[in-house]
Amino acid sequence: MRIDPDLLDCSICFEPLCPPLYQLVLCIFQCQNGHVACLSCWSMLSNKCHVCSHDAIFARNIALEKIVESIKSSCAYAKWGCCELVSYTQRNTHEESCFFAPLMCPIPGCGYRGFTGRWSGHFLVDHHSADFLHFVYGQSFEVNLEASLPFLVLLGEDDHLFLLLNKNMTPFGHAFSVVCLRTGDLNWKFSYEIEAASTRNPENCMQLKASVTNAKEWEGLHPTESFLLVPYDFCSSTNITLSVSVGRSASV
Ligand SMILES: [Zn+2]
Ligand SMILES: [Zn+2]
Ligand SMILES: [Zn+2]
Ligand SMILES: [Zn+2]
Repeated sequence: MRIDPDLLDCSICFEPLCPPLYQLVLCIFQCQNGHVACLSCWSMLSNKCHVCSHDAIFARNIALEKIVESIKSSCAYAKWGCCELVSYTQRNTHEESCFFAPLMCPIPGCGYRGFTGRWSGHFLVDHHSADFLHFVYGQSFEVNLEASLPFLVLLGEDDHLFLLLNKNMTPFGHAFSVVCLRTGDLNWKFSYEIEAASTRNPENCMQLKASVTNAKEWEGLHPTESFLLVPYDFCSSTNITLSVSVGRSASV
């Protein structure tokens, strides 16, 4: 069965006939001649139909509500790998949080939107050749981080985009953690290890092993579940040297 998707749009605002964000129940209204309006448009019509343009008696169109509620469609990011069949009324909510959706480049002021698995073109060729570290899974690499930088972009060999987050936790030290921005590929699980050695006594070192948090985008947020807290005394005040490795394993 196929249906013209335009039929599922409000004829006034042309938005999908979905409940507004603050409403869970779908309400579709029609005038006595069958002209359809969504809840928010209907509430502004004051009993005048936008098509018939005379006084109208509006009523809920329960049959159409049931049809719209029963429709499932594939996610708009299906071609990027999302396999979910999404209820039509939940489409916007799903696509907002879909891990296959494009995301904003985290470099401040860039504004580029990219898809998981396609970042190296943007980082290597276009703009930020100095702003990121390319790494191979399972191999540790050294990071020399400016203490004031809130994050460093780490680009995996498969073009997954990770951020090494650096949160200044006055008066204690720096909290480090790794997040992945919209993994997209749900077949992989990512984990990471961070090691910091004291600049004065290199034999003093601290280490964290943790799983990588999947984040929708960089919003200045830091995950709180796990992080390595490196005390100020441990590192120099301007630069911090860390040994980092990110692992990738098949999720069962
Ligand atoms: Zn509307
Ligand atoms: Zn009408
Ligand atoms: Zn999706
Ligand atoms: Zn960018």
